[in-house]
Amino acid sequence: MTRVLDTAEGFVQDALAGFAAVHGDLVRRVDGGVVRADPLADGHVAVVVGGGSGHYPAFAGVVGAGLAAGAVCGNVFTSPSAGQAYRVARAAHAGGGVLFSYGNYAGDVLHFGAAQERLRAEGIDTRTVLCTDDIASAPADRIDERRGIAGDFVVFKVAGAAAERGDSLDEVERLAIAANDRTRTLGVAFGGCTFPGADGPLFTVPDGMMSVGLGIHGEPGIRDVPMGSADEIAEILVSELLADVPEDRGDRVAVLVNGLGTVKYEELFVLYGQVAARLGHASLTVVEPECGELVTSLDMAGVSVTLFWLTEELEELWRAPAYTPAYRKGLVERHASPGGSDDAPAAARPDPASSVSEPVETASPASVARADRALVLLAAMQATLHEHEDELGRIDAIAGDGDHGVGMRRGIDAALAAASAARDSGLSAALRTAGEGWSEIAGGTSGALWGAALTSLAPALDRDDVTATHVAAAARAALDTVVRLGRAKVGDKTMVDALVPYVERLEAAAAVGRPLAESLAAAAADATAAAEATSALRPALGRARPLAERSLGHPDAGATSLALVLTAITQTSIARTSNTQTSIARTEGRTS
Ligand code: ADP
Ligand code: MG
Repeated sequence: MTRVLDTAEGFVQDALAGFAAVHGDLVRRVDGGVVRADPLADGHVAVVVGGGSGHYPAFAGVVGAGLAAGAVCGNVFTSPSAGQAYRVARAAHAGGGVLFSYGNYAGDVLHFGAAQERLRAEGIDTRTVLCTDDIASAPADRIDERRGIAGDFVVFKVAGAAAERGDSLDEVERLAIAANDRTRTLGVAFGGCTFPGADGPLFTVPDGMMSVGLGIHGEPGIRDVPMGSADEIAEILVSELLADVPEDRGDRVAVLVNGLGTVKYEELFVLYGQVAARLGHASLTVVEPECGELVTSLDMAGVSVTLFWLTEELEELWRAPAYTPAYRKGLVERHASPGGSDDAPAAARPDPASSVSEPVETASPASVARADRALVLLAAMQATLHEHEDELGRIDAIAGDGDHGVGMRRGIDAALAAASAARDSGLSAALRTAGEGWSEIAGGTSGALWGAALTSLAPALDRDDVTATHVAAAARAALDTVVRLGRAKVGDKTMVDALVPYVERLEAAAAVGRPLAESLAAAAADATAAAEATSALRPALGRARPLAERSLGHPDAGATSLALVLTAITQTSIARTSNTQTSIARTEGRTS
């Protein structure tokens, strides 16, 4: 349990504030996380890592010379928002592009993915390398589905060292991918972990047993076996790791023996001795091992062993010096303090905090008028999402976590407020800030997807001559964004099932020159029917997947809310543009 705290809600921020105060010479707090106190050298790649909190020293503890340029810090075990990732990356960026690296979890992939899109749209080259080292989380033939655990550290270390010596973004990305491909971890839990403020642990391990294949968010292991000695624990972990090796593995390995939170260093050293002996028997040479806490899981009792199969170029990066709050190695040349002889003094850079605030854009009167029309449509979305909040929550609760109604309500409220504030800057700015507001406040999978989708609408719509073709292109852009980020296919039982027929109908109608109002109504009706038809499907993605059977006979929550929104905006735009079309709205654009 967590004993030293003031409030559970404030725990993450209070801890981060104390951390930044202790290490003020190395890190600086920014909105969303921390960045290095000494700015990166101009043109260097900013390696930005992150994820939920509760894993210290991941992620804030590895920000510093030779390692990360910034860390994005979400709530306990919760993905940070896209806005947080964006702001930390902007603050860390020094002109050489951004490499995001984090563990492979759906929420992180969505939110960091949306941040990456936004950075790229602003001309900041941004890449992503997911960490997938946990061999217990998927078989070797589905290696891309594996989650990231202690091996995250290896990838961060390699990427950070490459960035530190001035490698290009292409190179840093290539090396980080190579490091991830050659890193494998397996762990064992002796006891669960407890959320700050919670009464009981997220899972328990039966007495006299240990749980092999642990996760780092309170996921129990995949199988329980009798508790063993250090010798027996090492035997299980090393033998399974040696059975799952990269092609062309070589005979030099870096080793991490990692404590998950409440295993003493002495115990870790005992385990290391057993691990090293086994690696020696296998004729492997251990290179600069690490033994300690690198990626933890609150107060979990557990250990993991990571093998990083070295190549010559990776070994050089593994051995390179680093100087961060939690990890120091070798001798690092520290930058001169700002105002000294540094050739790129901090004062010469735009203050990252201020550079994050939106530049005031000047917009044409026509674009402002378009923003006003968008506000009317957002208000219509708001009305329907408020009206159906409880119903959407109930649908989500059947096989998901019941938060879809609340999430959509919070998202649209934030989007409308942000768009209203940005309306003087025109439609593009209004849609972009609306999307950012949605993603930041709503949370969840749908928050990330809706936020990015709203932002993606602007290029097709912020123009003087909007036709049915442009509207179809905007809808297509939203669909592309949702699919690129969420990777859902038709039939997976997500909002994509309703969005695809909507886009296809708009495109077909535009191609044969049907009036816009008529095609909007027909497309909304198609989306509504498709959302209803998701009742027959089993979810293949998202939180609902493990409870797929329960979901049968009920529509997907996200498809349902999308159909409601499309119906509402159709009715509103038809009512505004043409009185003669209102009969279509009544007959076809109904709510479900
Ligand atoms: P969470 O699942 O994080 O609690 P919500 O409850 O707000 O988020 O949203 C759930 C909805 O999100 C689902 O009903 C589904 O329509 C949609 N969704 C989930 N995963 C995906 C995905 N990968 N791609 C597209 N939509 C998805
Ligand atoms: Mg949900």
